[in-house]
Amino acid sequence: MSAAETDLPALLGRLRTAAGPPQVLTDADLRASHETDWTRRWHGEAVAVVRPAATEAVAAVVAACREAGAAVIPQGGNTGLVGGSVPRAVAARRQVVVSLTRMGDVEPIDPVAGEVTVAAGVTLGALQAQLRGSGYAFGVDLGARDSATIGGMIATNAGGTQAFRHGPMRAQLIGVEAVLADGSVVRRLPGLLKDNTGYHLPSLLAGSEGTLAVVTRARLRLVPHLPRRAVALVAVDGPDEAVELAGNVRRQLPNLLAAELFFEDGLTLVLHHAGGQRPFADAHPAYLLAEVEGREDPTAELAGAIEAAGPLVRDAVLAGDDAGRARLWRLRERHTESVNAEGIPHKLDVAVPVRRLGAFARAVRQTIAEVAPAARTFLYGHVLDGNLHVNVLGPPPDDDDVDAAVLGLAIEMGGTVSAEHGIGVAKVGWLKANRGAADVAAMRAIKDALDPDGILNPGVLFG
Ligand SMILES: Cc1cc2nc3c(=O)[nH]c(=O)nc-3n(C[C@H](O)[C@H](O)[C@H](O)COP(=O)(O)OP(=O)(O)OC[C@H]3O[C@@H](n4cnc5c(N)ncnc54)[C@H](O)[C@@H]3O)c2cc1C
Repeated sequence: MSAAETDLPALLGRLRTAAGPPQVLTDADLRASHETDWTRRWHGEAVAVVRPAATEAVAAVVAACREAGAAVIPQGGNTGLVGGSVPRAVAARRQVVVSLTRMGDVEPIDPVAGEVTVAAGVTLGALQAQLRGSGYAFGVDLGARDSATIGGMIATNAGGTQAFRHGPMRAQLIGVEAVLADGSVVRRLPGLLKDNTGYHLPSLLAGSEGTLAVVTRARLRLVPHLPRRAVALVAVDGPDEAVELAGNVRRQLPNLLAAELFFEDGLTLVLHHAGGQRPFADAHPAYLLAEVEGREDPTAELAGAIEAAGPLVRDAVLAGDDAGRARLWRLRERHTESVNAEGIPHKLDVAVPVRRLGAFARAVRQTIAEVAPAARTFLYGHVLDGNLHVNVLGPPPDDDDVDAAVLGLAIEMGGTVSAEHGIGVAKVGWLKANRGAADVAAMRAIKDALDPDGILNPGVLFG
């Protein structure tokens, strides 16, 4: 037995003292759901999964890991799509998953400031439920709302369907509390929108993917809740028409809340796996789902904006009632799990300048066909962010050719290799190509200063 191995009982003992003995899971069966990611592409083994319920307990867990030289893998709902939330398959040190899901309290909403403070393990769905009836809503929404946590969404700077309107997670952050690599706690949650007292740590932690600190609490900005909504599903000739139509609707209806794109092959897959009826009698090349909110029912306004688009529209269906809207939304939101049901996908989440989205969508299918002729490609995404999710089925999980072709094309077209999912372990090889050596050196310097022993999520972002 090596010296490091003899230390394991001591480490587990300290973790049990910190979080409480039942909250340190060492049994393989109990660890399993924390060790494989949502896509099933990424998997690794932890010596334990620890589930602290308070900030002080997180601090004690991190301090214990640091002293034992163990890696800390922060985890929220484990819905991340780039492999950063589960242990690494090959690791130089022991790995401890720190699950924040027991940190679930929501403080009373501040109705004057339009802000709320929540613990990191609160799911987006739980926050949305808490806000109901308050006159406020949260400015970020995404399909994984029932599992994704606020801490995970901060760590990935999640975008979602409303980013073009309210900004990504970073734009909702007023303050954070977080545990640093040495176990100390930074805490600034006073609810001060204006606070120019040096470096803005919430911005630094947004998108840091668990490599700089474990987020334990956040002060969030809220947006006014407009109670009525209408959704249109519009059949169009292709992605260029979807972009033009979304732009037209946005200019006419400032309360546009979502503009989502998908294609006929994706719709067919969703209907196969999730059931439901075809929205139109005929198949069409592409579809734009647009949602508008208002104080009064906005269905007529939305219908007018779509009618005004004339020949851009091949067909359209509208819904102003809850059931009808949900029926149309599920055609878009069930894409991710329908693709997953077919196999382990290569998930590439790129963005290009909006005006190039159509050209990218055409070019990427061609590029993938050249690299992997038997692959099946499904595209969907958030039109007004220029953000397309490229899902490729067929090539084995460890085959990098398709990833290289897609990400290389995104960079060539002035885009980014990650619009909203992050770099994780899936795209570490692309950080420098995308951001440049100077940016990466600056990021590395920050990482080394805050986490000199490299215990926080090693392998993520920098490889
Ligand atoms: C069906 C589906 C739809 C999705 N749609 C979208 C979408 O529209 N937009 C979008 O942006 N994403 C989307 N995602 C991806 C995912 O939901 C987001 O990345 C989400 O922010 C992850 O939250 P989580 O709590 O599950 O984090 P996890 O998956 O647990 O972790 C993600 C990363 O954050 C780190 N982390 C987690 N918690 C903390 C913490 N408290 N402190 C520090 N680091 C932490 C982890 O180490 C990891 O690197 C989708 C995923 C699914 C499955």
